[in-house]
Amino acid sequence: MRRTARRGRVVSRSGGVTDKYQPMFREAIERMAPYTPGEQPRPGQRLVKLNTNENPYPPSPGVRRAIIAEAGASLRLYPTPRADAFVAAASRLYGLPRGMILAGNGSDELLTMLFRAALGHGDRVAYALPTYSLYDTLAEIQEARVVAMPLGADYALPLEALAAEQARLTVVCSPNSPCGTAASPAALEVLARRLGHNLLAIDEAYADFAETNALALVRRHRNVIVLRTLSKSFSLAGMRLGLLFAPPPLIETLLKVKDSYNLSRIAVAAGAQALADADWMRRNVERVKRTRAVAEERLRKMGFTVPPSSSNFVLARLAGRDMGPVCAALRRRGVLVRHFPKSVFHDALRISIGTPAEMAVLFKALEPLIKPVSAARPRRRARGQARH
Ligand code: PMP
Repeated sequence: MRRTARRGRVVSRSGGVTDKYQPMFREAIERMAPYTPGEQPRPGQRLVKLNTNENPYPPSPGVRRAIIAEAGASLRLYPTPRADAFVAAASRLYGLPRGMILAGNGSDELLTMLFRAALGHGDRVAYALPTYSLYDTLAEIQEARVVAMPLGADYALPLEALAAEQARLTVVCSPNSPCGTAASPAALEVLARRLGHNLLAIDEAYADFAETNALALVRRHRNVIVLRTLSKSFSLAGMRLGLLFAPPPLIETLLKVKDSYNLSRIAVAAGAQALADADWMRRNVERVKRTRAVAEERLRKMGFTVPPSSSNFVLARLAGRDMGPVCAALRRRGVLVRHFPKSVFHDALRISIGTPAEMAVLFKALEPLIKPVSAARPRRRARGQARH
């Protein structure tokens, strides 16, 4: 037997490779399951895409102009390390000083920075499930200990249990994915106070589609962090832009784990313009909310239970009926929605709100599929890990 240059693969004299595998990376990383994002169609594939909560309307025309203006000689130069123009625009729009704002390459990057800075091996992070499953992945990377608790009746946040846990980091997704429901800012403020010196991160990726938000808490509580994204309400999922708001000492600490130039010049220019054109975003949000109200009513008429959504998606449940086959059948008919097979919501479809025309295609495909399902006897729910 001899070892090859590729560590861990063992080659016998006859040249055969045996299976004796030795990890080449940290064991925690080798062991973990990867995060699986929703399907992104190949270029040219014609699908009605209602599976990853993108905005069906385009970004403002000003954003396009800003991108083109930036796409020249200036690209020789690195961008400003803290995405200055974007942060300045955020400061104007949200009325917070620049020292309380951190820009990210999507809010996923900001979540990564937060978990990296806050959690080491064995540290506790608490959140209610089901929620955005990236939190599980980020906790696993850090080898942190997840303290997960179920959402209460009517999808309510288990405030008491979260506060009692006193984890180093508590994460609340509000409005929550995949159920779409929002926690009240007053309840979040109580939680912030109860957590005292421990961090409370409020992931507000969908807040522009809600009636309230908790942004003001970052002024009043030294332990509160609020995260936003331009991927949903601002129609810029492809540009990768996120914002994190927090008291200045928390921002200073998070900066230590930031990549030097985490946003490109083009992203900074696009983000600054999108925020300056916030009225464009608000108009699109109103359109999405109108379509959402129609969709919720129609789904309920079809027999689904639909928690009242404060987001740009709805969760349509048929208690006890596995929606996997319906999701697959919709896919074959050219409509992508999201199903979470290993979750308590395996009996639901998460449907992003598209244009009225896209929703018409969805309903035309969905209605004939649902009749036989709702007639069938409910099944007991599957066990396993949620992936949202
Ligand atoms: N938080 C939640 C709850 C989300 O659903 C998403 C989008 N999948 C994100 C954060 C990340 O958004 P982005 O990285 O596109 O800004």
